[in-house]
Amino acid sequence: MRHILQVAVAAPAHSDLPPTLSYTSEHALGFGSLVRVTLGKREVLGIVWQEAESANSDAQEVKLKAIEGALGDIAPLNTPWRALIQFAARYYQRSLGEVALAALPPQLRELDATQLAKRLKRKPKEAAASDEAKNTANSVALSAEQSSVIEQFFAEKTAAQPCLLFGSTGSGKTEVYLQSVARVLSEDETAQVLIMVPEINLTPQLQTRFTERFAGEVIATMHSGMTPAQRLKAWLQAHSGQARIILGTRMSIFASMPHLRLIVVDEEHDASYKSQDGARHSARDLAVMRAKLETEHNEKPCKVMLGSATPSLESWQACETGRYQRLQMPSRIGNALLPKLKLADMRLTPRGTLFAPQLIAALQERIARGEQSLVFLNRRGYAPVLACDACGWKCECPHCSAYRVFHKTDRTLRCHHCGHTERVPRACPECGNMDIQPVGRGTQKIEEQLALALGSDTLRPDGSPIVISRIDADTTKHKGELEAQLAQVHAGDVDVLVGTQMITKGHDFRRITLVAAIDADAALFSSDFRAPERLFALLMQAAGRAGRDASSTAAHMWVQTRHPDHPLFASLAKHDYAGFAAQQLSDRTQAQLPPFSFQALLRAEARTQVVAQAFLQAALEAAGDLAGEQVGAFPPVPMSMQRVADVERAQMLLESPSRVALQNFLTQWLPELRALRSLPQCKGLIRFAVDVDPLLI
Ligand code: ADP
Ligand code: ZN
Ligand code: ZN
Repeated sequence: MRHILQVAVAAPAHSDLPPTLSYTSEHALGFGSLVRVTLGKREVLGIVWQEAESANSDAQEVKLKAIEGALGDIAPLNTPWRALIQFAARYYQRSLGEVALAALPPQLRELDATQLAKRLKRKPKEAAASDEAKNTANSVALSAEQSSVIEQFFAEKTAAQPCLLFGSTGSGKTEVYLQSVARVLSEDETAQVLIMVPEINLTPQLQTRFTERFAGEVIATMHSGMTPAQRLKAWLQAHSGQARIILGTRMSIFASMPHLRLIVVDEEHDASYKSQDGARHSARDLAVMRAKLETEHNEKPCKVMLGSATPSLESWQACETGRYQRLQMPSRIGNALLPKLKLADMRLTPRGTLFAPQLIAALQERIARGEQSLVFLNRRGYAPVLACDACGWKCECPHCSAYRVFHKTDRTLRCHHCGHTERVPRACPECGNMDIQPVGRGTQKIEEQLALALGSDTLRPDGSPIVISRIDADTTKHKGELEAQLAQVHAGDVDVLVGTQMITKGHDFRRITLVAAIDADAALFSSDFRAPERLFALLMQAAGRAGRDASSTAAHMWVQTRHPDHPLFASLAKHDYAGFAAQQLSDRTQAQLPPFSFQALLRAEARTQVVAQAFLQAALEAAGDLAGEQVGAFPPVPMSMQRVADVERAQMLLESPSRVALQNFLTQWLPELRALRSLPQCKGLIRFAVDVDPLLI
């Protein structure tokens, strides 16, 4: 008997293809089955789908192609997984097939049936499971706050409600995750859990803690640094239920886990959860949705815990309205104190001063006591600009609207946007002046100048010379470098750690008692309404790296600023996230900004800025009456990084007080836009895409 199947294949959004294509099969295949089908001239991977809303039901049965084969060795993708994909495709305005297939590991899409069969035969080696190992799960005695939080989290009434674990830095959130995981795994022998972290490479400690605690379990990790073979292996371990713990970055939200019972989103405020390409999904938001869908489609609930010391204002507001349950852990383990804020007023030092004298004195004092300090600046390289005083030349990137950054170690000018790299010219390329100078500062310069400022007579307590170490994207390019550098810090071999914000997140440094932010001012007066939220989180998180050991002397957080009276610092001094959030939310209500309104960006890339904007203008006109009263559109503008790698970029902001109204509008509007490409004024358009709930505007 011939069966007609609806199959999702990878087709770009707004192509002429319907959401699913019809194929025939000799055998009945369940929804979620993986199949290989021909699309055009290629054979591709597809997923058998239930009839999508607008599938072409009038497809002529006679013309239908048969599927090429089914991947029978792999169990079908289950209903909640398909529901999640369907939701994500609709919400982020992508085609079903694009989202579904992008959610699978690349090798699954590429390997042919024989290769795949070989892969599946390889028996994954058994983890050395011993009952002793499994029983280490409860070896740490919880603090009162930790126990109370876990009890509340597992209380019956909150079964389906998302929880926000609002816990100070060093309050022991990780221990709460570990013990919650242990509880879920022990109550149900098939249960699986998903732990998401913003950047897995930055948190090797978390991975170690899970591996040590759950020595008997297969732990699958999923992040973009893995090889295709590793990704396929991890995916199969999760999909088969063999791995019960999955640790991953934002991509792991789409992992197939047939018995998912718990999702943890650590550092839920982190912008890395928002993808900056493809469907541009927010893995944190999808985690909440996934828990809901899993609960709806299974007999057993799936719980979700978002954790942070500085939650996103979206999640905070959800607690205020009772949509999420707030669980609080205000105290640090062992009652260690949060560091005291010290503001260095840079108006009192000559312009261009890198370090306030008080900061240098404070660093020397810490070094003399054998304590560690952390100094951070959000710019790697030596200096952001190389300039000629004689003619005004600056080292612009020829392909981007940005300056190339001067890297002193290899004497190059490097564009951090397109990667364009050149040797530093001997003289000004415009006027031949030999004296071109670095302007501004990057981490390399901070490292170099700090050594000079501390002077050669600043020594360790034992009289040996001090060690300054720099950690940023440049020093950690190769596998293992970050781990090695962090190990040195943990071992106490480093006195001052210099770096970008990479070192301010998550690390459990035990010996650091001073943290200094060299330049925080740029974010205070940014045009981006989220800049204060990000700065506050960054400074709180950075402060959180200091004084984590209760026995250490009073820890200090130094901030160099020319605006010491800014209200943000008043909240920071009191470690008052709640006060800061209340202030920000009140500003945002008045301005009708998220979370009190909903936004989407339509972005266009073209050969020229004129074309990019012309396309957006045409799109705006095409909206006509569709937008109605509920949706507002702002005029097209160049993006703040207007040109990257010779491509001009423009965007248009759409805003609505109603999420549903905005969604409905986008769903009707976007399919119309493809036709605009043929307009004469849009010639040279490269691509367009929508970003729903954008983080950077
Ligand atoms: P957070 O993630 O909230 O910043 P961590 O989970 O890293 O904090 O915990 C901070 C430190 O306290 C860690 O070194 C951890 O091992 C320790 N810790 C956590 N819970 C306990 C506990 N109940 N008893 C003793 N030490 C704990
Ligand atoms: Zn010049
Ligand atoms: Zn460039």
